[in-house]
Amino acid sequence: MNRLSRIFQPLTIKPRNAEILNLEGLSCSQKLMMNMGIIKPSNPGCYHLLPLGIRSIEKLTKLIELEMKTIDGQKIEMPLLTSAQLWQKTGRYQSVTSELFVVNDRHSKELIINPTNEESITDLISSVSPISHRQLPLRLYQITNKFRDEMKPRFGLLRSRQFLMKDLYSFDSNIDNAKHTYNEICQSYDRIFQKIGIDFLKVQASTGTIGGTSSHEYHFMSPIGEDQIIVCNKCKYACNQELIAVDQKICTKCGENDNFQILNGIEVGHTFLLGDRFSKPLDATYLSNEGKPKHLQMGCFGLGLSRILAATLEILSENDQLRWPRILSPYTLIIIGPKEGSKEQTKIQNLPEELYNTLNAVPTIHEDILIDDRNNMTIGKRLLEAKRVGYPFILVIGKKSLEDIPEFELHDLVNKTEHSFSESALIDFLLD
Ligand SMILES: [Zn+2]
Repeated sequence: MNRLSRIFQPLTIKPRNAEILNLEGLSCSQKLMMNMGIIKPSNPGCYHLLPLGIRSIEKLTKLIELEMKTIDGQKIEMPLLTSAQLWQKTGRYQSVTSELFVVNDRHSKELIINPTNEESITDLISSVSPISHRQLPLRLYQITNKFRDEMKPRFGLLRSRQFLMKDLYSFDSNIDNAKHTYNEICQSYDRIFQKIGIDFLKVQASTGTIGGTSSHEYHFMSPIGEDQIIVCNKCKYACNQELIAVDQKICTKCGENDNFQILNGIEVGHTFLLGDRFSKPLDATYLSNEGKPKHLQMGCFGLGLSRILAATLEILSENDQLRWPRILSPYTLIIIGPKEGSKEQTKIQNLPEELYNTLNAVPTIHEDILIDDRNNMTIGKRLLEAKRVGYPFILVIGKKSLEDIPEFELHDLVNKTEHSFSESALIDFLLD
């Protein structure tokens, strides 16, 4: 049984030393995640992810992994360290040094703590090259921590120095096939964001220091977003402002004159059609039908898991209350039983635990229920706290549980409604 009293969730009820903490300049999601015991700050730009935060991240990971199965993605795990020599070979070491965490080993060899893994994966394929054309298309991904020495880490998990990222790398025999793969994986990313349920924009983006021929970013719209997204009001073509010349007034796609809107976006995903940008310098090849080794055509596709979570909370949460999409909430339902010594408690005894077990058999919330067993606290106090943490469903066992057919109070935070349900009506509702 998941008991709240046993969960490590250090709450900041009222920041006692608000001045020292200096909560100004923090984003809404960052403040709430810290106050509600989802994350705690460590050194600048690094955070402890606490049990409730981990549960949410694990749900997001599962959602992504299920989606990867539909596009034949194979999960791997690469080392966190890559030789700096590899990055020199591709010319990237020189261009992004300031953001790289670099360490020296005991033999004075430079190693990069990976912010991304194009060099590493291409080197892996190169080491077994030429691979058979029967292996293609090949899609390999991992979900691991990445590191970037941000000049200004801020907004908690939105711009941190350590972040959880899913990176997928695709290998194809020619550029047409690579484009086909690119579109297929972008569609799969669309589905992931649709399941999370936050409106997103897929926008044309700069290929930056990674390079390649084409690139798109996925953005959640938010006033605190650090990217400016230009959207044509006529054809809805969207691109990152960095692609637009300062004095440009014409839509690149439809030719509409000066009819744009500018939105702030939080980048939550980034895709690149790489071509042979990495396979050529690192010599990653496949054996063609004619028996000749040819350079592989690649794509790379990133999703920032910790950032997706923070951006989602940033957009859904209100005032001092967290709000989660049901699919990512640490627990879907919390049960609050009567206070110790109350009339209800004396009469109904183990009802909260019984109800927990009954509901746990409902497939839609199986293993996803929490019981607030801190019965020394009033219902009102626990209800307020549950609302602040934002569990989608809060079930209160109050006065009506004493009626001939006991009824329970259900607070549905997603639809902002309240219901009074008998046990069977409650199960029907949760099965929906
Ligand atoms: Zn247009």
